[in-house]
Amino acid sequence: MVKIPKSHPRYWSLLYRERIIEGMERGITAKAGLIAHGRGEAFDYLIGEKTIPPAERAMKAAVAKILLAKHPVISVNGNVAALVPKETVELAKVLNAKLEINLFYRTEERVKRIAEVLYENGAREVLGINPTKLIPGLESERAKVDENGIWKADVVLVPLEDGDRTEALVRMGKFVITVDLNPLSRSARMADITIVDNIIRAYPRMIEIAKEFKTLGRSELEEIVSEYDNSKTLSDVLLHIRDRLTKLAEEGIWRRKKLD
Ligand code: ATP
Ligand code: MG
Repeated sequence: MVKIPKSHPRYWSLLYRERIIEGMERGITAKAGLIAHGRGEAFDYLIGEKTIPPAERAMKAAVAKILLAKHPVISVNGNVAALVPKETVELAKVLNAKLEINLFYRTEERVKRIAEVLYENGAREVLGINPTKLIPGLESERAKVDENGIWKADVVLVPLEDGDRTEALVRMGKFVITVDLNPLSRSARMADITIVDNIIRAYPRMIEIAKEFKTLGRSELEEIVSEYDNSKTLSDVLLHIRDRLTKLAEEGIWRRKKLD
């Protein structure tokens, strides 16, 4: 891995970019995953590379919904395994959710590599290694899911997911939660709860929220979920971007000031 000087003004961004590249070299991340990461980075620039209030609200609703679920499943793909393997395993543990490898570009080799990474990071069980069921409405390679995982899940967390597959899960009657930096993507618009944040910030924060919410009763959790409105969240994200860009334009970003 290339050594990135800590003094670099964009240290974090470069560090995670290296993780994605390393993930690809280790056979975890698909080539197309590099492009998806770049698209995410672009939206993160617009948002301001921090967790914004609508994302915080979506994370709270998501955690509450998963704590209330009967069979919650957290899906893992190649980008997620490269960026946040440890946090993924920890989040599944605190939420009592199952982990399932679920790949757009599925190859047995990549599935095996990702499973290894999850086990190395403390996973007790990893589903999706021998999927026997197919999500209706998708061609078979993209449709494979585990009978004991996504197939029977009531709530699924599918971060960095393709819009077509998100839609297919919604059609199956699943409650779908996604993490996606692009508020305009089909996934973002199809999901029941959309967390518009970088997964590298969202998962650590969701772990904190989960620990906090474990002390709440079902009716309190139900209230958090019922008060949540995903259309409003997506609108608020767009307004945040608009207002931030307006402010930057008015202040004059060409004056070499630090962005905030
Ligand atoms: P869609 O199919 O939903 O319209 P898409 O085809 O543009 O979206 P995909 O490659 O299918 O995108 O899905 C990846 C999504 O994940 C993109 O919207 C991208 O912005 C987002 N993304 C990439 N990296 C991150 C990250 N680190 N955190 C959160 N979201 C990310
Ligand atoms: Mg897509």
